[in-house]
Amino acid sequence: MSSKPHTGPVRLRVAPSPTGDPHVGTAYMAMFDLAYVRQQGGQFVLRIEDTDRARFREDSEQQLYDTLHWLDLNWDEGPDIGGPYASYRQSERLDTYAPYVQQLLDDGKAYHCWCSSERLAEMRERQQKLKQPTGYDRLCYGKTEDERKELPGFTDKPVVRMLVPDDVELTFVDLILGRTNAPKPDDQVIQKADGFPTYHLAVVVDDHLMKITHVVRGQEWISSTPKHLLLYKWLGWEAPAFAHMPLLRDEKKAKISKRKNPWARLTWFKEQGYLPEALVNFLALQGHPPVIEEDGTEREIFTFDEFVERFDWSKINPAGAMFNLDKLNWLNGHYIRELEVGDFASRLLPFLHADGVLPAHPSLPELGRLQNVAELVQTRITLLSEATPLVKPFFVADDDLEISEDARKDLKDNAKDVLAAAIEALEPISGSLGTPLGEGIEWIAERIEKELRAAIVDGLGVKPRLAFGPLRTAVSGQKISPPLFESMEILGKHSTMQRLQALHDEL
Ligand code: GLU
Repeated sequence: MSSKPHTGPVRLRVAPSPTGDPHVGTAYMAMFDLAYVRQQGGQFVLRIEDTDRARFREDSEQQLYDTLHWLDLNWDEGPDIGGPYASYRQSERLDTYAPYVQQLLDDGKAYHCWCSSERLAEMRERQQKLKQPTGYDRLCYGKTEDERKELPGFTDKPVVRMLVPDDVELTFVDLILGRTNAPKPDDQVIQKADGFPTYHLAVVVDDHLMKITHVVRGQEWISSTPKHLLLYKWLGWEAPAFAHMPLLRDEKKAKISKRKNPWARLTWFKEQGYLPEALVNFLALQGHPPVIEEDGTEREIFTFDEFVERFDWSKINPAGAMFNLDKLNWLNGHYIRELEVGDFASRLLPFLHADGVLPAHPSLPELGRLQNVAELVQTRITLLSEATPLVKPFFVADDDLEISEDARKDLKDNAKDVLAAAIEALEPISGSLGTPLGEGIEWIAERIEKELRAAIVDGLGVKPRLAFGPLRTAVSGQKISPPLFESMEILGKHSTMQRLQALHDEL
């Protein structure tokens, strides 16, 4: 079966199930949906598929909104903002599905099934033992409730099943995969014992009523497509186009799961300090090839707008790519370095606040200092969460600065002499209590460096590689810190001297 070429505005949807922390696959689908909608002109719909009440999680929907907005993958219609086809939450549409179930029953396309789960399990076991194909054996088909009651394994809460014919069409044309074959489906349940529709019925009804033109979903749904096409046919509706996306795989080529891979959870990326633009770029590369420049070279770094411009279903690699965190980290480092420093500083704020370094709403002097520190840190981190140990020393009182164990261990016998020489060398430089620099203030990195080199490298004869370790430890408490002289400049003379003196006196 092939779908007709589509005319008019396109309408695509992402249809996550709120069963826990949002899955990275949801953002992946949403991105490809949105790229096509932006390219073609149309609407992007968010629909919440919450018919699986056993796996439903209350806070999941809000997390979905938050993470998709964070990635700037915004929808035109959805449960939170409404739209012409509301409700966009399946649990609020139960009345919508019931008449279609009835229609299929009346037309003889569907039938009630009263088999208990124990009977179905026994049936499956028997089929497996006899090496028969597994599938519902239609014990209930053609029987009234009273007739069925006489037989074993009866429950009084029936489900409704599709009567899938032997000659069901198993081939369809996919936008990514071309002609695609799927296995013969079982008599799929379309209405559960609790009266809720299953995914298979609800997705077809909603995609039709919401005028969805293209269904983009993972390849795990290929085997369901013949059932869905059958429902479209039975209900007399035109089917949308299908694009089955390659699955996201881990380094062992296995389908990723929230159980095995922490990074299958979208919130994980936010917590770790990935930038949304890096994650979007990375997810685009999972399915779509890099940009090819005019001179034939490949470019892996591109904006969402560039992606939209080049987006093409036929370019998607059906095999998909391996989820390579090293690649994502590389991209993230790149995007971090590209940020305007004020923007970078404001993206650090939530992390610094969560780590107790800064209040939620820092004062103007704190923000000024953060901006200066951010400049030093920006080239030194891959994830925003890595900034805390580098930034913290600039926001603790001198008395509260803690010297880390490994920095202390690294101090050599000459540390006290080095600190004394530094104090003596820096004393004559006129300095303010901190930034900003004012008239006649000489407390700047170049001058500080000059004096310290003269005193410690030339004066004491300490090798340059070893000369500044004790000073770094004294001002930052860490073995690794942003560049020392710039850090001293930002801290200001008073704090720098206090810290040098404190460690000196301790030794
Ligand atoms: N609710 C389904 C899921 O979460 C959606 C599949 C589809 O897009 O049709 O996987």
